[in-house]
Amino acid sequence: MFNAEKIRQDFPILQRQVNGKPLVYLDNAATSQTPQQVIDVIVDYYSNYNANIHRGVHTLSQEATDKYEAGRHTIQKHFNAKHAHEIIMTAGTTHGINLVANGFSSLLKKEDEIIVSALEHHSNIVPWQMLCEKTGATLKVIPMNMAGELIMDDYDTLLSKNTKLVFVNHISNALGTINPIEEIITKAHQVGAAVLVDGAQACPHIKADMQALDVDFYVASAHKMCGPTGVGFLYGKEDWLNKLPPYQGGGEMIAEVTFEKTTYADLPHKFEAGTPNICGGIAFGAAIDYMNNIGFDAIAKYEHELLEYATAELLKIEGLKIYGTAKNKTSVISFNLEGIHPYDIGTLLDKMGIAVRTGHHCAQPIMNFYNIPGTVRASFAFYNTKAEVDALVTGVKKAQMMLA
Ligand SMILES: *Cc1c(COP(=O)(O)O)cnc(C)c1O
Repeated sequence: MFNAEKIRQDFPILQRQVNGKPLVYLDNAATSQTPQQVIDVIVDYYSNYNANIHRGVHTLSQEATDKYEAGRHTIQKHFNAKHAHEIIMTAGTTHGINLVANGFSSLLKKEDEIIVSALEHHSNIVPWQMLCEKTGATLKVIPMNMAGELIMDDYDTLLSKNTKLVFVNHISNALGTINPIEEIITKAHQVGAAVLVDGAQACPHIKADMQALDVDFYVASAHKMCGPTGVGFLYGKEDWLNKLPPYQGGGEMIAEVTFEKTTYADLPHKFEAGTPNICGGIAFGAAIDYMNNIGFDAIAKYEHELLEYATAELLKIEGLKIYGTAKNKTSVISFNLEGIHPYDIGTLLDKMGIAVRTGHHCAQPIMNFYNIPGTVRASFAFYNTKAEVDALVTGVKKAQMMLA
């Protein structure tokens, strides 16, 4: 039996009240909460061994370096990358995507094509548009159906010998759709294209295996999986990372500097200019350990139960429509009430202590597809409970009555 009540005791924030009501936190797709085990690691870092890494001979610097590199190894092991130097520490998903997009600006030609999906987050659309403007390459889009699934037959038609890159998220943050990335990767490789997968939304739910997927690049953020904000990673196959030019210049990323010429450091340091988020990298490792202790299979099973229960209960409300009904989806429910603006529902729910997200969820093209301004999005984590689903359903009904 999955004991969510016991797990909740690890999260101090879940004990607080909002507007005089117990907090019901259902905005996990925007950021997840942090367990005491991870908070302790952050406090320990600043209390006991805060120092800059890699350069120092003194004890604090060596302790910080060892723990930071151990964090990298935890990421490598969890995502099953072949080498630790294929894990580039970043400030998060957005940073990782921009790093790759910037690198490809020197590799693309005018006749080249980039394929993205209709289900992307803005952070996975804008960098490619900028890249196309710079290189003259063309951006193509895999369309979606009403259920919020990618139309894979259309993907087959878009692929050609001109396709150089395919970018797709593993799981859509707006709808929760789990995309068939195995098939997307295999087919892209058949025409010689590289694939970058945005794993920001998948990492709290699915343990992605870099080698089994044979993916070229994969990015994610710690704060979506119980870690702190401002840290994430880019996985890249060694060959690809060697081919890409450095992103930013500065300290840490050089081998030798003279005014005539600079040679770059080996992987991963070539892409890690400046002082990184040291504490964040260490805490990211702790967050992965924390989630693995609970177990990803157990988490997925429990969240699926929550999703089915919440879907069934919400659909009992008259005039409620759910957007994103893919067969394969995670615990995200995007919905609207007939005739009521999502923002008004979100505001009233907050008064009842219930945190949801409203708006376009950084995915305006999806909202345009459904011809709506936005949705209310409730996203569940393994520390949410059926009682909280009930609180949401009651809250939505109350809001409906007040706004009708
Ligand atoms: C959250 C999210 C991002 C952006 O992550 P940052 O940590 O803000 O860089 C990108 N893509 C998806 C699918 C997300 O859910």
